[in-house]
Amino acid sequence: MCIGETGLGKSTLMDSLFNTNFESSPSPHTLPTVKLKAHTYELQESNVRLKLTIVDTVGYGDQINKEDSFKAVVDYIDAQFENYLQEELKIKRSLSAYHDSRVHVCLYFICPTGHGLKSIDLVCMKKLDQKVNIIPIIAKADTISKTELQKFKSKIVAELQNNGVSVYQFPVDDESVSEVNASMNAHIPFAVVGSTDFVRVGNKTVRARQYPWGTVQCFEQF
Ligand code: GDP
Repeated sequence: MCIGETGLGKSTLMDSLFNTNFESSPSPHTLPTVKLKAHTYELQESNVRLKLTIVDTVGYGDQINKEDSFKAVVDYIDAQFENYLQEELKIKRSLSAYHDSRVHVCLYFICPTGHGLKSIDLVCMKKLDQKVNIIPIIAKADTISKTELQKFKSKIVAELQNNGVSVYQFPVDDESVSEVNASMNAHIPFAVVGSTDFVRVGNKTVRARQYPWGTVQCFEQF
């Protein structure tokens, strides 16, 4: 599930991550309520077939009264748990054939303001943190400088802690992955850049954003 204000780059990041074009149409800022839209895709990555459902929160944060923005999201997540429970309670269950629509991970897109989290972010994450794995990510990270980004990240981590919001932590109890997972945990919230454009750099064509002053490659660590 991708939660974040309209125009923060949710669809672009999904296209970038899965290296495809999900052909979503941009939504306007004028929707009266938040709507949850789920689309299921069958992807093929070399010889691995992946069934992926992306849930988008259309209209999130666009209403003048943002108080209920998160309600639609919470209701959606609860409804998926309820559906699963109903299937489990049946005398003749067919969980193997059941399309499990429970949300496994929620990418929470944070606006790259440099000024910490908005109240809507904290309230929404607090409502969800016991129901779903939340991975906070700073959207459009190319719009924020390197030093600002470090300060912004520390501020977000402090605000999450002070408000008792628990976000996903990569597990560090298994020795074989503890080192790499600990270093991943140190990066949270992740700073991301997405693009639907391809640019030629040297002899390679890479997913990137081109500006008058330079090119930002999406999969470069910076
Ligand atoms: P959504 O409404 O959250 O799905 O946002 P979109 O993916 O439709 O993106 C909205 C606009 O933001 C588009 O013009 C994108 O090109 C732009 N955008 C997306 N990702 C990035 C990014 O990482 N950096 C910058 N600067 N712009 C981005």
